[in-house]
Amino acid sequence: MGDALLEVKGLKKYFPVNRGILGRRKDYIRAVDGVDLTVRAGETLGLVGESGCGKTTLAKVLLRLQEPTEGKIILEGTDITGMGRRKLRKFRRRIQIVFQDPYASLNPRMTAGDIIGAAFDVHSPLEGRSREKRVAGLLEEVGLNPGDALKYPHQLSEGQRQRVGIARALAVNPGMIVCDEPVSALDVSVQAQIINLMQGLQEQYNLAYIFISHDLSVVRHISDRVAVMYLGKILEVVNSDSMYKQSRHPYTRALMSAIPVPDPESRRKRILLEGDVPTPLNPPAGCRFHTRCREVQPVCRMHVPPMKELEKGHYCACHLL
Ligand code: SF4
Repeated sequence: MGDALLEVKGLKKYFPVNRGILGRRKDYIRAVDGVDLTVRAGETLGLVGESGCGKTTLAKVLLRLQEPTEGKIILEGTDITGMGRRKLRKFRRRIQIVFQDPYASLNPRMTAGDIIGAAFDVHSPLEGRSREKRVAGLLEEVGLNPGDALKYPHQLSEGQRQRVGIARALAVNPGMIVCDEPVSALDVSVQAQIINLMQGLQEQYNLAYIFISHDLSVVRHISDRVAVMYLGKILEVVNSDSMYKQSRHPYTRALMSAIPVPDPESRRKRILLEGDVPTPLNPPAGCRFHTRCREVQPVCRMHVPPMKELEKGHYCACHLL
């Protein structure tokens, strides 16, 4: 693994909403609320959390598909947070995204070849035979036939469509791909194939991934480190290898306890999370998790727990640690 490819400092994304009888009172949905992250070249950082915790918003803000409210996004040493469109185009090439629903993310009126070709047309257009060759090469790299270039998305299977989505991301030689629930919509056997493909491409191109999922077992399998997100904040960052032994945050431990264990002898005690995730429109004061935490203390209701480094590379935000 190499140097920091992406650094995120104090990143916030608030969405304004009008409230009150006349709609004059302005409140904010705090979808992302002060996130710090570093991703190195060749590394996979898993991002896990329940639905609505802000994972997808964070992904969109990292790609500047949505503008951040506050904070910094530093890509390969350059601050791209406030960069204008023209300048940003050069950096956009280095960070790409693969979406959850390959069908919705591919234009149904374009063939697979045109979809992939359109990606590099933006940055370095190719014509005629060179374009065909490049598209064919990319299709082969993701395990498809060059002949699939002529097929429309509806003529491909779910797994093949996701392969086209990956080829489109690869087309511009990115350093990082943000994968937003890339296998959640796929059958289990196809999930394994896509994950193997992604791991192979990572090795070949030294790609960094941010792998977003609500499924902790998938995230743990593919990631080097895992960041756990809850109500717009990162609560813990831990190495995936030692996650069972090292994870200390009560929320992470509850998520881990829900992962099924194949061996009935070593069944873990399930920690049930009570109550619903509070609304990000009015998140709890102090520790965001305090309304559902079984170890809550008075201090948790008043003060936001700072992120502390417990061991090298293991960060956790909890007053008890
Ligand atoms: Fe639970 Fe308090 Fe730790 Fe938050 S800070 S996880 S409420 S013990």
